[in-house]
Amino acid sequence: MIRLAIQSKGRLNEESLRLLKDSGIDVDDTKRKFIGKASDFPLELLYLRDDDIPGVVADGAADLGIVGFNEVSETGADVKVIRRLGFGRCRLSLAVPKIVDYNGLDWFQGRSIATSYPSILNRFLSEKGISAEIREIKGSVEIAPAAGIADAIFDIVSSGGTLVSNGLKEVESVLESEAVLVCGNDVTEDKQEIINSVLFRFDAVRESRGKKYILMNIPSDRVDEAMLLLPSMRSPTVMPLALDGWSSIHSVVDDAELWRTVESLKRIGAEGILILNLDKVID
Ligand code: ATP
Ligand code: MG
Repeated sequence: MIRLAIQSKGRLNEESLRLLKDSGIDVDDTKRKFIGKASDFPLELLYLRDDDIPGVVADGAADLGIVGFNEVSETGADVKVIRRLGFGRCRLSLAVPKIVDYNGLDWFQGRSIATSYPSILNRFLSEKGISAEIREIKGSVEIAPAAGIADAIFDIVSSGGTLVSNGLKEVESVLESEAVLVCGNDVTEDKQEIINSVLFRFDAVRESRGKKYILMNIPSDRVDEAMLLLPSMRSPTVMPLALDGWSSIHSVVDDAELWRTVESLKRIGAEGILILNLDKVID
């Protein structure tokens, strides 16, 4: 049995549960308590505040955690990042009132900066040789300049909309973040085996995201051209149809390339094109 800590509510909760569900690790989410148990996998879920996850994994109270890389970096907890999970993307940035005529990091010399991420900010400022006063506040950091609490802020940005609506502009991006899977440093062999199985499933789910399975019929003399349009995991599967002179091709295409590929395939005579969702991809 292993224990996985995830955020109990908030921005990472839903995607964390979806990843588990898609991995066949079903946890009854309806009667959510502090701990949940998967019905068909040796895993317990621990629901926590995101700030507490790195520490709990470092202490061994949980074996794995899903948490923003920003929290791992801020807490400095002794954990290993074993996968990036591709959701919860954001960055930690310095922002100043939009009326400021900003001309580089020196602007921060001797100023005050409000943040909920004092360690990351402190590290960054010392690295750059800037001495500024860090004012730690837990929430609503973006209102600090207007409220006269600080000259600038250091906070999470994703679209930048919150900054703009508070009369601020982003001037330096300091740390890129996304949700990551972390584990502790001494894992027993039994647990490692279960962790490997979690990794195998997470990888298969991630690999399938952003891809479609495509199949079509095509005149056999155009198959070579079609192959050039269809980079597949190894190579596309080609099968003869019962109808003489026609073949069927099956392949996997990235969502980003999908429409361009389909249009090119139609131009060379592809017919009966089917596009299907991929559930899992196991390499
Ligand atoms: P908790 O109650 O668990 O302490 P929280 O309020 O500290 O929650 P959330 O706002 O739910 O945290 O954000 C969780 C994580 O989601 C962040 O630490 C970050 O990694 C990620 N994230 C992605 N985009 C954003 C964003 N626009 N604003 C805040 N966090 C974001
Ligand atoms: Mg938090």
